[in-house]
Formats: sequence, structure tokens, C-alpha cells
Amino acid sequence: MKAPKSQQVRRLEAVIGLEVHVQLSTASKIFCSCPARLPATVSVSEIEANSHVCPICTGHPGTLPVLNRKVVEFAIQAGLATQCAINPKSLLARKNYFYPDLPKGYQISQYDEPMCRNGVLGIQLPNGEEKRVRIHRIHIEEDAGKSIHYSGFSVLNLNRAGVPLVEIVSEPDMASPAEAGAYLRELHSVVTFLGISDGNMEEGNFRCDANVSVREPGAELGTRVEIKNVNSFKFIEKAIEFEVLRQSEVLRSGGTVIQETRSFDSFRGTTVPMRSKEEAEDYRYFPDPDLIPIYVDGDWIEELKKRLPELPQQRRGRYVATYGLSAYDAGLLTSSREIAEFYDQVMEVLKKSTVDAELTQSAKTAANWVCGEVLRMLNETGQTLQTSKLTPHHLAELVRLLQLQQISSTGAKQIFGKVWETGKSVSEVIQGEGLVQISDPAVLKPIIDKIIAAFPGQVAEYRSGKDKLIGFFVGQVMKETQGKANPTLVNEWVRQALSSG
Ligand code: ADP
Ligand code: MG
Ligand code: ZN
Repeated sequence: MKAPKSQQVRRLEAVIGLEVHVQLSTASKIFCSCPARLPATVSVSEIEANSHVCPICTGHPGTLPVLNRKVVEFAIQAGLATQCAINPKSLLARKNYFYPDLPKGYQISQYDEPMCRNGVLGIQLPNGEEKRVRIHRIHIEEDAGKSIHYSGFSVLNLNRAGVPLVEIVSEPDMASPAEAGAYLRELHSVVTFLGISDGNMEEGNFRCDANVSVREPGAELGTRVEIKNVNSFKFIEKAIEFEVLRQSEVLRSGGTVIQETRSFDSFRGTTVPMRSKEEAEDYRYFPDPDLIPIYVDGDWIEELKKRLPELPQQRRGRYVATYGLSAYDAGLLTSSREIAEFYDQVMEVLKKSTVDAELTQSAKTAANWVCGEVLRMLNETGQTLQTSKLTPHHLAELVRLLQLQQISSTGAKQIFGKVWETGKSVSEVIQGEGLVQISDPAVLKPIIDKIIAAFPGQVAEYRSGKDKLIGFFVGQVMKETQGKANPTLVNEWVRQALSSG
């Protein structure tokens, strides 16, 4: 089926609920001591297949699982960060199905009694409004291995088998692809700020199933379709968008939506059927007799509450309240923990060298640079703040010099480029490149006079009332000085020269 065109279909109201699988970054797997996490520089796909396995995670008969306490703590933290009720007693259950990459023939998960219930996540919509999405439940489970299919045979890699996950299930509270995207981004920030997951979507460490239905505004919930395992924010929004239009079209043309599981074809931008409800498996869940219930008492919860870091929403609030940043900039800064921490470090340095009255201005300038040049360079070079040579000190120094008008913004960009490349300090670069801003009247005034003499036509126009031409003259002076002239001073002196001539 071709992608329906939005203008051809009157779209119905969308109803979206998301199930997100988050890989927890514990040192060891959920029921054995095999490593679950690799050195930061190595990705799971890079290590040798089946090198991180033992009899427990490969399901040998006679072995017994032992629950990793850290997994329980991480799940409680996820629950606390999303205002869930933490279940004092929860159960581990077997979810039975047969697939080669599931060595035991069942996955250990949670069913009737998950660890956390009834939470809420505040999200920021693209228009700046806040919305609350209810969390239905959060449970822990083990990941399966990975099958790789070739023509005629398949190979198995069980390094992932037994790696801990939390599944975070929302209520069907989102009403557009953009809302679903905002929810996912917020949830991603929350788990990465908590430090319970690296959130790496390419590695599949943060993946999402989207449940989508449509209805006439205000009507009962419609039949839902589940789109499986989409692993980028952009693709999730596209998959939902397609599905909303497809279902709207089905209903508009008198058909019925069938409950099924579909997958997203990122190449065509469409969803395609995987299996219908009739083909859905019966997992025959039952409590795992090898594992005792998980008991979580109030003291433990209190202790974990105390250890919660500042979460993205609180951080956004702090940036807006103490630095006067826009909600939009605050949102960009908190889109990743790395960026937010870098910004905080820049501000720490600036606080030492800036008088209070100027701190908000510096905070805004710093935010503009982090959200602008820094993010741009990270995107362009594929580096992270860890691997790049840029330090918070570099940026703080640049902001301070801009504030003192010792460098122009054009100059600052050149300096930034050099600093990024070499890791040298800002003052070293300025000295090496001769980029100090020119504010000396003995240098600038003769240049201004020369420019005025060179453009008599424009001078006459200016004097006959075409005020806007001031920009032309300032531009010429900036060009003459390779962007090093102090633009405020040039502006003032050009005006003086033109009115006195
Ligand atoms: P299952 O466990 O079979 O996947 P659930 O009832 O637990 O089913 O729902 C899974 C997800 O589907 C939840 O995120 C929920 O919000 C969402 N959901 C349920 N009903 C609908 C619906 N009619 N439209 C869209 N999403 C729905
Ligand atoms: Mg489901
Ligand atoms: Zn193991």
C-alpha cells in the first residue's frame, strides 16, 4: 500500500500508547554474573559473539537464577522519577514462547505484579505547552539473544541474553505523533539523567513499540495496532503518522481496523502487517518457581529517593527561573545529560568571573553558544563532549570576552573553530591569530573616513534620510578589518562622521 496523502484523508483523532524497553546499564546481567555492559568505547556489536555467556544465561538445565539487586534499584529509580507507586511486593513470571535466541524457552519478566504502577511523566510539547502522560506500569525483565539470519542458515549471539531491561508502559494518553515524540525524548532524558541506561538507540538500548488507534473525537477507544521495535525518534513519529492516516482511511471508506502487529518499513515510510490477533501467541504466564518475590520496603525507597539526581524537568525549571532562559532553550539544554552538565560547568566558571548583575546575560549567551555552535559541531563531527577537545573553560572564556566586548561575535566564531580544532586556550588562540577586537579610535577612525570618502553616493542618500544605510557603512568597516572592529563603536563613530561631514 502506498503512503496515503494527508490532504486526501480527513484524519480522525489519534490515540497513542507507548511501550518502551530500556536496557539498564548494570555491570552484570540480571540473573548471573556475566558482564551486561562493556567499556564505554566498545559496543555490543563489536565484541566476539557468545563471549559474555554462562550456563545460567544460556539456560542450561539445573542452573538457578539469582536476581541482581542493582536491577531492582534502577527500576525503583525509574519509578520514582515518574511518580509511580512502588509495589512493596512484586513477582517474577515466566513468559513462555519458543524462539532460538531464547535458550530457556521462556523469558523471565513480570506480569500481574510489576514493580511500579500509576506514574506520570510531564512532557513539553513542540508549542511549549506542558502535558502529563500517565504511566501504566514499569516492570523488569531479561533481554533475549540475537538471531542473525543468512540465506539457508542462522547464527545466534547470546551476549544479550539475560541483559536487564525495564519496560515502561504508558497509558494511551498521546494524541499526535509529535506528542509521542516529545514523550519518548523526555523519557530518554529521564533514564539517561538517572544514569540507569546509556539510552543508545542505535544499539537497541532504548526501543519502542507504538500502539495506535483512531476515533471520532470523544468516541470510545478504537481498535489498536501495535508497531514493533522502532529505534529512532524520527521513525517513531513517521510510523505513527502513517498509521493514523492509514486507519483513518480504512474507517472513512467503511472498513474496520483489525487488531494486529505491524512493522515499520523505514525505506518506504509505511507500516506493514507482521501478525494478526489470531496469530498472537498465548504466553502462558505464571510465577517463576525458581525466584522468590521481590520485597521493597519504605526505607529502601527513601534511600533511593535521596540519591535521585536533578531530573530534566527540574533542570529546565531552574534554567528558566535562575537564568531567565526561554523554555525552548532550557529544553534544548536538557535534551541530553551530557549537554546539561556541560552547560552547568560553563556557568560554574562564569559565576566566578562575572558580577551577579551580568550573570543572566552571560547565561543567555552561554546557552546560545551551547545550543548553537557546540551542538552544531557535535553533529557535524560525530564527536561527543567527552571525545572533543572543547572544555567548559573554553566556552566560559569566550562568553566572558564577548561580554566585555573584547571580541566580536564573528571573531568569537573564528576563535571557537580554532579552539575546537586544537584544544588550545582562548587567549592562546587570540594571540596566535591576532583576533583581539579593535576598539582603538586611532585605528578605526581613519578607516571610517576612508570608507565615507569612497562611497559619496551612499553618503548623499544617507543624508537625505535613508537611515538604514548606516548598516552598509558599518559592514564596509567590518569587512576592511576582517570582522575585528568593535561593531558598537564603529556604529557610533560612523554616525558621528556622517552627521558632522
Ligand atoms: P498488551 O500487554 O497486550 O501489549 P496493554 O493493554 O497492556 O496490551 O497495552 C499496551 C499499550 O497499548 C499501552 O501502552 C496502552 O496505553 C496502549 N493501548 C491500549 N489500548 C489502546 C488503544 N485503543 N489505542 C492506542 N493505544 C492503546
Ligand atoms: Mg504489547
Ligand atoms: Zn551468564
